[in-house]
Amino acid sequence: MRNIVLFGPPGAGKGTQSALLVDHFGFVHLSTGDIFRANIKGATELGQLAKSYMDQGKLVPDDVTIRMLEDSANAHPDASGFIFDGFPRTTAQAVALDAFLDEKGQAISGMLALEVPEEELKARLAKRAETSGRADDADPAVIQNRIDVYNAETAPVADHYRGQDKYAGIVGTGTIEDIFGRLKTAIEGLS
Ligand code: AMP
Repeated sequence: MRNIVLFGPPGAGKGTQSALLVDHFGFVHLSTGDIFRANIKGATELGQLAKSYMDQGKLVPDDVTIRMLEDSANAHPDASGFIFDGFPRTTAQAVALDAFLDEKGQAISGMLALEVPEEELKARLAKRAETSGRADDADPAVIQNRIDVYNAETAPVADHYRGQDKYAGIVGTGTIEDIFGRLKTAIEGLS
């Protein structure tokens, strides 16, 4: 069983590539952003809480996010492997994820980090705003805040996996097919 963390800043292509990887490898895809958005749509209490952070481009608090992720993973007891997209976003989340998987006799196989220059991220997010309907894509100030939060709080998560020798940087520019090919090769190389 392979468990992958697909890492990278907002707009790096994590959602797009996750869908292709699910088709190819049969992973269960867990995107904390998608789960929060489903809760907002369903007008749940969790959705209301998450929205107050998401609309500002801030991170939802760790305790809430970790509990939600664990519940979502537990809902797939027969999964043959997970792809974690948008999680972990803090070192505390990474530590919690390791402990959660360890209890099940599992571990993260690798972190694949999509590398995309900041100017391209901004251009992609502005384009996505035309169709995504996401409030946090529509406002350049919120986009900048998300990138700043990524640099300050999320980028250090890479060190957590570097320390375990599980980090691989992947060039995140070029065609969707090119990027998928790089990810596929990297995953096939993981035990
Ligand atoms: P995403 O869809 O991954 O771009 O996430 C959209 C927003 O959801 C983020 O800007 C955060 O406000 C929130 N979010 C998603 N995943 C997490 C997480 N792992 N920890 C905290 N907040 C998150």
